[in-house]
Amino acid sequence: MNVKSIMVIGAGQMGSGIAQVCAQAGYSVLLNDLKAEFVERGLGVMKKNLSRQVEKERMTAEEMETVLGNVTASKDLQDAKNVDLIIEAAVENMEIKTKIFSQLDEIAPEHAILASNTSSLPITEIAAATNRPEKVIGMHFMNPVPVMKLVEIIRGLATTDEVYQTIEDLTKTLKKVPVEVNDFPGFVSNRVLMPMINEAVYTLYEGVASKEAIDEVMKLGMNHPMGPLTLADFIGLDTCLYIMETLHEGFGDDKYRPCPLLRKYVKAGWIGKKTGRGFYVYE
Ligand code: NAD
Repeated sequence: MNVKSIMVIGAGQMGSGIAQVCAQAGYSVLLNDLKAEFVERGLGVMKKNLSRQVEKERMTAEEMETVLGNVTASKDLQDAKNVDLIIEAAVENMEIKTKIFSQLDEIAPEHAILASNTSSLPITEIAAATNRPEKVIGMHFMNPVPVMKLVEIIRGLATTDEVYQTIEDLTKTLKKVPVEVNDFPGFVSNRVLMPMINEAVYTLYEGVASKEAIDEVMKLGMNHPMGPLTLADFIGLDTCLYIMETLHEGFGDDKYRPCPLLRKYVKAGWIGKKTGRGFYVYE
């Protein structure tokens, strides 16, 4: 299938990045969120990212205008009626995602592929909320999207080879590297990463070391580019907690129980960089 137009649902940290890389690859992009101001915020982040590229002379001002010209703001799901592909990047919550997918199934043209950027939720279950499970697939981008090369591509139980191939080919046009994985909780990336982050929160909770010390040990000792608590702030502690709950419930294994300190921070609204406070405080 030849994809020309893409709609991105959710203009948060992931959605705005996904819209940016799609627009840079020349696709016509609709960026959707619940309110106009949320879309504007997403577009603002995109402009800031692109301006930085212009300053570094990696892109000309004209190229930046062309990219921005490829993106149209949307706050109505009905705009999905003319697109070939929809990439959903709303909050990590099964109820919200299945509601979006069943609405999109009604609105989007028959040929359209519905993809989710979920970090951990079963694609098969999201697909079951539609009448086109064969056209539902996971496209798990990494944060920050314009920088990170990997896209985990997750097949649901019913996803066809043709749909898989279309998405794999499209991912390459975004200058990303697709890696195929099967539909299990957390896929590969978060099944391995999140328990490490959760364990880092436990070491803080149990007073084994300070947050700075935990991050320093993992940075200098394991050669990680950033410590796990900094990374958790960057991902969003709400997203981290939701992924741990998905692993816990999906495998029924207590080794995935979320640390009580992680729950406490989320309840306090200290959910990381996006709100200015998580394990660390951000200006
Ligand atoms: P975010 O909170 O920054 O953004 C989510 C956006 O979705 C918000 O702007 C919100 O208003 C919008 N939204 C909520 N319900 C909506 C609806 N019904 N219709 C349209 N928009 C709606 O979250 P994020 O970090 O961008 O995460 C989005 C998705 O990407 C989640 O599924 C998350 O698990 C996944 N993800 C996140 C990361 C990460 O590092 N943060 C990495 C990979 C994947």
